[in-house]
Amino acid sequence: MTTGDAPAPAAPVALYVHVPFCRSLCPYCDFVVVAGAAAVGPRSRVSSYLRAVAAELDLRADALDTAFGGPGSDARPALETVYVGGGTPSLLPAGAMAALLDQIRARFGLAPGAEVTLEANPGPDDRGDLAGLARAGITRISIGAQSLQPAELRALGRRHRPADVADAVAGAREAGIASVSIDLLYDVPGQTLASWTETLEAALALGPDHVSAYALTLDDPEAEGLTGPSGDHLPTPPGARRWREAARAAQDEDRAAGAYGLADAMLEASGYPWYELSNWARPGHQSRHNLVYWERRPYAAVGPGAHSFDGAMRQWNAAPLDAWMAALVSASGGIAPTMPPGGAESLDAATAETEALFLGLRLARGVPRNAVLSRIDAFAWAAEHGLIEDGPGERVRLTLRGRLLSNELFARIV
Ligand code: SF4
Repeated sequence: MTTGDAPAPAAPVALYVHVPFCRSLCPYCDFVVVAGAAAVGPRSRVSSYLRAVAAELDLRADALDTAFGGPGSDARPALETVYVGGGTPSLLPAGAMAALLDQIRARFGLAPGAEVTLEANPGPDDRGDLAGLARAGITRISIGAQSLQPAELRALGRRHRPADVADAVAGAREAGIASVSIDLLYDVPGQTLASWTETLEAALALGPDHVSAYALTLDDPEAEGLTGPSGDHLPTPPGARRWREAARAAQDEDRAAGAYGLADAMLEASGYPWYELSNWARPGHQSRHNLVYWERRPYAAVGPGAHSFDGAMRQWNAAPLDAWMAALVSASGGIAPTMPPGGAESLDAATAETEALFLGLRLARGVPRNAVLSRIDAFAWAAEHGLIEDGPGERVRLTLRGRLLSNELFARIV
């Protein structure tokens, strides 16, 4: 797209499925999650969820059939990736996952060699039947380790122990899951650069294929206006709000920058070059699904709070589980499913161009040199302060300093 062209809608090349169940709620969590009896046990809402997500998949596929033709037609490529995220999707029974992926294959098409990722928590009662999930078609697993320090895991309200992470990685390997990722958090309560180094060493010793490392963010979705009836977030419970206030007071920008630099140096030296601001991978193990987001390619999404993008418009489902389910499954069975509540935002050419710059700069490959011309002042400032450098093939990319100060550059690009 060049400046001035109106963005045109296109069929998705990726699909996100949001599974909103966790055994318990972590106090820093901003994802759309229900926990406790709604998630596990005889009163769980998982079977209603599965009926609703099947109904939404059919509605979304019907709309794509009408707009672009059936899966595999010229304007409707088979999906390159599916990402089952949450929540704790590894809680789903393997049979349910197989049925979900069968439906996706039939209604959306799944390209040969498609990447199918499952998010999993490492605890023994959370990581699920990894062999069954692999047989169902999962090819990649993203394990929410967060830390490999017992005290930090307790401080974060996590239920697992460091040894569970090792067991989950080993279980995924035994199950034949081809690509294993570990998620870590830094700038967490009680963390020091020494304990972060130990976490990174322990994570690397497990031999993952991919590592994500994110700074703990403690935003307030309510204050940002994201929690209304059409909002894509749930309100933060009072206890979690208090926890966040205390945790925020213990965060430290300089220590976080040190943690990022440490992670980058250790991962790079161990054969995991960075490919996105918060992601490092062995060659061939970059997250193809997340690259779809960063490259602004079109993706579909189902589940409460899920976001989709068709190249011209962003759409989202509202977060509340009840409203999402009420639209898709009727208790008495007699009412046809309708699209769940939510919102949408059209993107004009200028917004699309700015988004492409932001997202492209997150990637190690950077952006084409001519893409920065429209923001020459911001990029001249960034060059003067050592935030950007020339990359191969007439491209511009962030330096390590630029990655640490990317928000300052992004604020000047807007
Ligand atoms: S396990 Fe993950 S998704 Fe579930 S509550 Fe904790 S942070 Fe949120």
